[in-house]
Amino acid sequence: MMLDYQSLLLALGVSAACLMVTLLGTWFSRRTDSFLLTLVASLCLVVAGIVAYSSYTTQSGMIPAVIAYTFLMAGFSTIYAASVQFRTGEKPWYLAGGIFIVCLALGLPLFLAGLDGLGLIMMNILTALLLIGTAGQYWTARAEAPGPLGGMVLLYAVSGLSFALCASVLLADSKMTLGRAPTNWAENLNIGICIAGMTGIGALSLALHQWRMAALHRREAMTDSLTGLLNRRALFAQYGERRFGASTAVIVFDIDRFKTINDEYGHSAGDEVLRLFARDMLAEVTPAACAARLGGEEFAMIVSEIMPGRAERIANEVRKRFAARDILADGTILRCTVSAGVAVGLPEGQPFETVLSLADSALYEAKRSGRDRVELASYLRSIPAVPESRTSA
Ligand code: GH3
Ligand code: MG
Ligand code: MG
Repeated sequence: MMLDYQSLLLALGVSAACLMVTLLGTWFSRRTDSFLLTLVASLCLVVAGIVAYSSYTTQSGMIPAVIAYTFLMAGFSTIYAASVQFRTGEKPWYLAGGIFIVCLALGLPLFLAGLDGLGLIMMNILTALLLIGTAGQYWTARAEAPGPLGGMVLLYAVSGLSFALCASVLLADSKMTLGRAPTNWAENLNIGICIAGMTGIGALSLALHQWRMAALHRREAMTDSLTGLLNRRALFAQYGERRFGASTAVIVFDIDRFKTINDEYGHSAGDEVLRLFARDMLAEVTPAACAARLGGEEFAMIVSEIMPGRAERIANEVRKRFAARDILADGTILRCTVSAGVAVGLPEGQPFETVLSLADSALYEAKRSGRDRVELASYLRSIPAVPESRTSA
């Protein structure tokens, strides 16, 4: 049995409304500023557009057509803006509003002049462009979650093409004035594709949201929230199983007399000192290096592909940079120093934990001999350093 056009429209409206409720519920469960909310808004507009369009199929006159055009174009502009928001993280409302105004300017005069046939061609062309543009946005972002995003690209592109098909059938008919919504095979195909596409896109949008949340949680679990550096867990996940050769060094830093900073200026001043120190560390981190907070006021840096003496120089750069810093705390300016220990792996390889504990011993040595200094692990002290001018050549 063939469903009539009215029933198909109703099915489309109901599936859009259901999808809207699902997406809204998902957004509520974790109210991050998410593209899901933008999709909910766009579906709201599309549903209103479908209702108006449905009355345009039964009732002649320009008013339902104008209302349907307005809501549908607002909806599809917002769908496109949601895809840009997904890719760039920018707020979607200006973009959606801008596109919507352009769509109104292109289509409304046609309807108001009574040329609804031409207006519908315009609507189908603009919708096709917006949906294919949406597919393009998700295509650009596909690396983030190839499965769900690949599916969405396909569904948006196919839906977009079905609108282009409607436009070309209307163009072939070349009737300027229709009086009511057209019915032809392209319109039926278009609605069928939209119902299937809407359901698919809904499911994939949810999958995408979960995917993104999982990635966010993974990232959070690996990041030190105070400094934004890697945390101890992340450092061990990255290096714990590795063996360190003679060109990979571990530098361990520990801020000097940090307890007294907390005691004299308060815990939040202490936190600020930790943040500033992390910044000084990052200033010396090259692509072949990695910085982490081990816990408390202890930090580590892994430097690979180094010449002898290079790690020590990096440690000293961080130390000097930090010691020279004026730190504003509690209305006064305070100075703070740091001590560091450096250890390097062995040519035949050495476990990360061994190198880390050798660096720790060197750090202890630095503390013992007066702080604000860098010490090498004992087996390194006999190796001559290569002058900087030669390492940078
Ligand atoms: P030393 O020169 O020997 O390193 O002395 P110290 O005072 O720096 O050493 P100690 O390890 O005894 O003190 C570390 C202090 O760091 C103790 C603890 O209260 C403080 N601390 C640990 N984590 C945090 C943090 O996240 N924020 C702040 N503000 N303080 C912290
Ligand atoms: Mg300390
Ligand atoms: Mg300590």
